Amino acid sequence: MARIEREKKTIEYMIHIYCGAFHNDASKAGGLCGGCGELLKYATERLERCTFGENKPACSKCKIHCYKKDMRDKIKAVMRYSGPRMMIYHPWLAFMHILDSFKKT
Ligand SMILES: [Zn+2]
Repeated sequence: MARIEREKKTIEYMIHIYCGAFHNDASKAGGLCGGCGELLKYATERLERCTFGENKPACSKCKIHCYKKDMRDKIKAVMRYSGPRMMIYHPWLAFMHILDSFKKT
């Protein structure tokens, strides 16, 4: 799987885990609440527009802070919560993500 595609999947799962835990909203049909839907859309767009493309460094290490401040705060909260849980639900993606963050930038 291409790098960008994999990162998109990873972030999608992470947002789902987070939204399911904190915004359990009966009105959402198996999807995400409004705010998390926006966040996912935003994160996906940022990945697609990443200047580094397939050679991108891990977002946490990137020198270009392409996220708007409020979106960055949201995604940080998602990663803090869902990061460790990815090991349980999606160990392979979690493993690849950790591997990426160790690669030199
Ligand atoms: Zn949510």
